[in-house]
Formats: sequence, structure tokens, C-alpha cells
Amino acid sequence: MTNCGSLTLVSFALRHSELKDLAAKVEAGVRLSEADALRLFQSTDLNALGALASLANERRNGRHASYILNRYLNYSNYCILSCQFCAFSRKKRDRDGFELTAEEMVAKAREALALGITELHIVGGLHPTLPFSYYTGFIRALKALDSRLQLKCFTAIEILHLAWLAKKPVREVLLEFKDAGLAALTGGGAEVFAPKVRQQIATGKESAAEYLEVHRTWHQLGGRSTCTMLFGHVESLEDRVDHLRQLRGLQDETHGFSGFIPLPYQPDNNRLPVKHSPTGQDMLRTMAVARLYLDNFDHITAYWVGMGLKMAQVALSYGADDLHGTIIEEHIFHMAGAQSPQLQHEKDLIKAIREAGRIPVQRNTFYERIKVWDETSTAQVIRTEAGGDASPVRFQETESATTGG
Ligand code: SF4
Repeated sequence: MTNCGSLTLVSFALRHSELKDLAAKVEAGVRLSEADALRLFQSTDLNALGALASLANERRNGRHASYILNRYLNYSNYCILSCQFCAFSRKKRDRDGFELTAEEMVAKAREALALGITELHIVGGLHPTLPFSYYTGFIRALKALDSRLQLKCFTAIEILHLAWLAKKPVREVLLEFKDAGLAALTGGGAEVFAPKVRQQIATGKESAAEYLEVHRTWHQLGGRSTCTMLFGHVESLEDRVDHLRQLRGLQDETHGFSGFIPLPYQPDNNRLPVKHSPTGQDMLRTMAVARLYLDNFDHITAYWVGMGLKMAQVALSYGADDLHGTIIEEHIFHMAGAQSPQLQHEKDLIKAIREAGRIPVQRNTFYERIKVWDETSTAQVIRTEAGGDASPVRFQETESATTGG
């Protein structure tokens, strides 16, 4: 189906929907208000919502949908906080706590580099004692493995913790990390911004204003980052809209967010009374509202670790244009009950994207294109757009060779 044809059908479907006035706004490029976003969340017309979000996505990203070859790495799960939703953190007295040396991290990174990754995604708990030099040390050691490897490290909450431990201003901490080789900040730690929700699910965690200020400072230094929202627990729909409003506001100011990643809540092994994850409807609706309301974001990621690959694939028809990455080893969501596998093979990400009627694109940390795959063939690259820091560390000609296991 041509782009033109699909837009006509979308227009037809939306004219007969309860959302027709909002559809008119989106089609005219008029920004949606918070009241509009709330109506979208409350709508029962999921198909119309998906059609509208797909229209907004296609305008921005065409028919392309991306993935990244990456590896997750947790340097430690020791944490001074005890967020009620968290199943990952441990205290020093716990037997299953861990902390990796820089050498251990380098060994894991070296294995992943051999598989073709372009990014390491590194986070941990708020460790009580490790010195600041530990963090700059592992960044330098990992960057020394290959200068093209992109290091996406630390949540804003970790940055605040490390600044506090090292008694340095946040700006100085970020500059030192940048100098060591940090490419981007991760988006974790946002949870839900509303103070009453934060108090309930993450007592003691830094506020929304503090989270946003770290990202603002990083963006002012020329850095890029992603941002998140952990949804489907005790928050209201109004709280979700308020969260998105604050992200859109900072993006208007800095344009430093490369993408938004909605994270479905996982219910196991934590202290929250909510013992179910969001429904499929809720996941798709949240994806679609994010695409429509966050009109200044280029990319919305469907996080397969939390959604499962099948639901993430469907989300490509509800506004998402990215499936995240190969991951290889994930702890945080799986300790909280995620049923997805530990890794995805590149060929399965490509297959999922193709089946959704999209053109697969291998991207780098900044969502820049590395490879554009043929729409239908299973093994053909039609364009390679690598250059400078965006280039893959090891180029793999065949899709089955990339992600181990
Ligand atoms: S969510 Fe992060 S800050 Fe909170 S307890 Fe878990 S590791 Fe610590």
C-alpha cells in the first residue's frame, strides 16, 4: 500500500471516530494539549488511536523502523535506596549482590564486540562506597577497546548520587565522564514524576525537577539522552499526562532527547501491592499517546524486554518506530518478572520489523542509521550509512552472525 493510500484510509477511519476532532488537529499539525492527551488515554477506540499514531510516526520516520546491536552491562546491584517497585537492588549483607571490576567489564565487552555491537548500555544501583575513579576508570577502559564503541551509561539518578559522593557539581561530573568517553545518558530513573506516586513507588528517590536538571545540563553540554516513563502501577492517567508534559517541556527547551521509551511495570519480587503488568491495550495506548503528544520527539521505542517482542512488534503499528536492541544480558526487568528472553538475535528483530510492514534499519546510540535493509529479502543490505563515530564496530554481512547464543 502506498503512503498516500494509507493516509486516505486513515482519514476515512478517523472521520468516523470519537477522536475525529483530535484527528483533525493531528492532520493539521496542531499541537495537542494535556486535555487532548488525557482524552486519548481514555479513548476506547484503540484502532483509531493506532491509525492516528501511525500517521504521526510515518510523517516523521516514513516506513523505517530501527534496532540497535547493543549489550547491557550492570556494574553492581548494590544500592543505598530500596525503591518499592525494584527487584534488582541488593544490600551489602545480601548473598546475591555483585560488583564487577573494570577488568570483568572489559572481558564481557570484548565478547560482545566480537558479535558486532556498537553500544554498551551501562547502569547499576546507587553504590554506597565505590570511588568516582572507579566509574571514570571503567569508561576509559571500555572506550580503549574500540574508539567507535558508544557508551550509554548512567541514569540521571546515578549521576546525582555520584556527584553527591564525589562532592562535585553535576556539571563537573558530566564533563569528566564526557572527557572519559561517555556518549549518552540513559533514560532510567524517571519512573513517574508526580510526587505522590514517586513517594509510593520510589521513596527517597530524587525528584522530577532534579532528574530533568541533570538531563538539561547534559544537553547544554552538547550531550544527548533518552527518557522513560515506568507505567502501569499506581499512577493515574493524569499522572502519565503530567509526566509527558514535563518531558515535552524540556525537549522544547534543549532538543536533547533522542527518543522516549515507555517502560511497562513488572510485578514480581518487589514490595508494591500491584501484582500484574499493564495489559496489551494499555501498552499500545500508551505508545500511541506518547507518539501523538510528544510532537517534538523523533523516536518512540517499543521496549521488547518489558513488552515481549510480539507486543513490541504490534506497537510498530501504534506509533513506535524502534525496537531497542539485542541486549544480550538483562537483569533489571527479568528479576522483576519479565518473561521475555535475555537477548534477541538481529535476524529476529529484522523479521519482526519486516512483518510489521516496515523497512528495517540498524541504528546507533543516537538513532542515526548504520544500515538500511532490503524490505523483503532476508539477507540483503541496500544501503550502509556508516560514518565517523556512527559506524559499527564490526560489520557483519550476514544477519545470523551478530548476536551470539
Ligand atoms: S530502582 Fe534504582 S535507585 Fe531504586 S532501589 Fe532499584 S537500583 Fe536502587
